[in-house]
Amino acid sequence: PLPSIRGDVHFDNIVFEYEKGRPALKGISLHAKAGQSIALVGHTGSGKSTIINLLCRFYDPVQGRVLIDGTDIRDVTISSLRSQVGIVMQDTFIFGGSIRDNIRYGRLDATHEEIVAAAKAVNAHDFIMGLPDGYDTQVEERGNVLSMGQRQLLSFARALLADPKILILDEATASIDTETELKIQEALKTLLEGRTSFMIAHRLSTIRHADEIVVLDHGEIVEQGNHEAL
Ligand code: ATP
Ligand code: MG
Repeated sequence: PLPSIRGDVHFDNIVFEYEKGRPALKGISLHAKAGQSIALVGHTGSGKSTIINLLCRFYDPVQGRVLIDGTDIRDVTISSLRSQVGIVMQDTFIFGGSIRDNIRYGRLDATHEEIVAAAKAVNAHDFIMGLPDGYDTQVEERGNVLSMGQRQLLSFARALLADPKILILDEATASIDTETELKIQEALKTLLEGRTSFMIAHRLSTIRHADEIVVLDHGEIVEQGNHEAL
């Protein structure tokens, strides 16, 4: 198992193909030091999601290794890996139930105080209190009680409460109003603090938050550096 990890992530010369003879990643080497945030950018089909898929062990590489704190992730249990690697998905996953249930997903033991503290930290508390039943408001998976931006903030609260050392953020492309956008950016800063993160970023404002920007093209890293350098 991975007891208390630092969150150092190393993709060591990764080759991967979904279909034989059609490599989706052609020798990717990438090192995220503990606490560092990396933005993955590139055209559609360049391999961004594939990198994430391998870190989550949805697939294993054909060649090379993914290491966390120097340990090959194939040598740890899936459950301990999942407890350390959190995902905030693009189509932020909201299920039928109360707002409270949606935030404490994966942390069923969380107290009301912890849930509220997480919501406050990511700017979600105010809009939640504005809902008819506050934290007890029922939402539906595809319902429209919540705006896209509110869904995003809710998923941030969930991630913050779960407190994984490594965080994956697959950013939504949906347009969000400027005010909510600012709240999201502020919340993102809080969420990234003390974690290693990989962000599939679409917004320039998110990319700016990253310590390192990695540009992918056809399964290869073609550029890498910080925002000023690129
Ligand atoms: P997008 O910006 O559209 O999300 P991406 O950078 O995330 O693109 P990937 O999804 O990693 O790109 O895809 C990399 C390559 O692997 C592409 O050529 C894609 O067609 C292929 N691919 C992705 N998923 C699968 C799959 N499940 N089966 C077969 N091929 C796949
Ligand atoms: Mg993708």
